[in-house]
Amino acid sequence: MSDATTGAGPLRIAIVGSGPAGFYAAEALFAHPEIDFEVDMIDRLPTPFGLVRAGVAPDHPKIKNVIRRYEKTAGHEAYRFFGNITVGEAVSAEELASLYDAVVWAYGASADRKLGIEGEDLPGSHAATEFVAWYNGHPDFADRDFDLSCERAVVIGNGNVAADVARMLLLPRDELESTDTADIAIEALANSSIKEVVVLGRRGPAQAAFTNPEVRELGELTDAEIVIDPAQVELGPASEAFLESDAADATNRKNMATFTELAGRDRGAKEKSVELRFLRSPVAIGGAERVESIELAVNELQLVDDAVRPTDTGERETVECGLVLRSIGYLGTGIDGIPYDSRRGVIPNDSGRVLDDDEPLAGHYVVGWIKRGPSGVIGTNKKDAAETIEALCEDVAEGRLTAGDTDHDALERLLTERGVEHVHYDGWRAIDALEVSRGEPFGRPRRKLTALEDLVDAARND
Ligand code: NAP
Repeated sequence: MSDATTGAGPLRIAIVGSGPAGFYAAEALFAHPEIDFEVDMIDRLPTPFGLVRAGVAPDHPKIKNVIRRYEKTAGHEAYRFFGNITVGEAVSAEELASLYDAVVWAYGASADRKLGIEGEDLPGSHAATEFVAWYNGHPDFADRDFDLSCERAVVIGNGNVAADVARMLLLPRDELESTDTADIAIEALANSSIKEVVVLGRRGPAQAAFTNPEVRELGELTDAEIVIDPAQVELGPASEAFLESDAADATNRKNMATFTELAGRDRGAKEKSVELRFLRSPVAIGGAERVESIELAVNELQLVDDAVRPTDTGERETVECGLVLRSIGYLGTGIDGIPYDSRRGVIPNDSGRVLDDDEPLAGHYVVGWIKRGPSGVIGTNKKDAAETIEALCEDVAEGRLTAGDTDHDALERLLTERGVEHVHYDGWRAIDALEVSRGEPFGRPRRKLTALEDLVDAARND
């Protein structure tokens, strides 16, 4: 089909990344019937869906139902999936840009932020993002070894990833076995010696980044009591003022009510515990060969221009522990040939148009975490993608983006020439069917394949 807007064949769009941002971008493109789009979605892994597959906690299966919506998009006649292709290795960013009329960068934020403290790299200290990827069966992390033979683990950070890893460390075997947690992680977690998880926030309960259901869930664990020192939910002047200001939102206020209720509970008889300890910043991780303890600065809060900041009181505390999970946020990385803001870990952009030296870089767009940073829930990417695709369609309407001399088969040809084995959507369907059938006898939603070779092998049976 040719298209009046472009005066030529379809507009060929490459979307790099098949997580929520990539799928919402594809959906938004197909919502423009006046423009004839062809969408090739490229992913580093043979499997689509990004953090919905490799990030969402396995005990939150309902969140993964959003995949049904992405499957609908993948069913569009003008959609193709190219998995197992690393842009920057199998094909460069420049090559990709020359094969398509536009590229939408949607590859998220896969690295982790560093604390920059002594002992951070000791064995036993890990980025929570790696732990998450491991229990979710991400092939890059399948061989990781997390030593869970200690009794106390410390989780640094007060976001939903911290809540997820704290919960996963404490789930009983039967609850793990009803999920799609990687087999190796189920064994390790079910046999773990961890009895106590201490979750540290550098600010107070009123500023915690958890969403409210995640806080409540920590108070409802089958085998673990929640512990919050009642003194910690007594607010100082900075937090009082914060909660009354416009800087606080409904979640901050709801969380405060939940923390207060949880802190007032009598300690029950469950053997394990999760403690939320606020106003604590890690200053060093100690240990001779591996993690043995963590030293914490005790903070107080100050209100500076409506922002509540932690400041060190000089007081120190030491917590003995054998495992530290640093859950202080994901970080985006750059791709050679594409502008990148290393301080913020994002591709600089204006409403989704990639900027090079503050000027739009023709034919390049960005969505999701690599556009705005690692914030928000899955649905946040819908609005984010809508903004970017609106900018793209505006560029089409105003003649800044037109169908060029691109070829429907160019990428396939290039990959074949280079001997790059890649996986199409039918290949993913074959992986999916195999994983689901492997789970069925055990009453599990699926048993994931976690080795790259096994995934690619399964995809060959499409
Ligand atoms: P996040 O929500 O940004 O939380 C990061 C936490 O790390 C904050 O508590 C932050 O404290 C703390 N932090 C940052 N730097 C620190 C430092 N140097 N020392 C001590 N603490 C530090 O990030 P996330 O938990 O990685 O989650 C990423 C996004 O995914 C979030 O939007 C989250 O809601 C979402 N997510 C959602 C779900 C779900 O819906 N169930 C599950 C997982 C993730 P400050 O506030 O003081 O900066």
